Amino acid sequence: MSKVRKGDRVQVVSGDDRGRIGRVLAVVPEKNRIIVENVNMITKHQRATQSLREPGIIKREGTIHVSNVLPICPECDEATRVGHAEVEGRKMRRCKRCGETFE
Ligand SMILES: [Zn+2]
Repeated sequence: MSKVRKGDRVQVVSGDDRGRIGRVLAVVPEKNRIIVENVNMITKHQRATQSLREPGIIKREGTIHVSNVLPICPECDEATRVGHAEVEGRKMRRCKRCGETFE
C-alpha cells in the first residue's frame, strides 16, 4: 500500500517546487511516481492541428518521485510521515505527528 494516494493533499519536500502544496492528480505505482497539481510544470510547444487550430504553449504537470512529497494529515494539517494501521479491518494510515488515523 502506498503512502500517497490519488486525491491526497501533499507537500513537496525537495526539488525546485519544495514547499509547494497540491493535490495528487494521478499515481503511477509501478514507477513510484505521482502527478501533483501545479508541481513540476513542464512546457510543451503545441503545433496547430485540425482539432487544435491555435498553436501555442501548453503547460502541464510532469511526474515526480513519490519520495519528494509528504502527505498532509487531514487532522493536524501538517506534512507528515505516515505509518500503517488497521482500524476495524480497514487499512488506514496513521499520522506520525498527531497519531490520528485516516484513509
Ligand atoms: Zn496528524
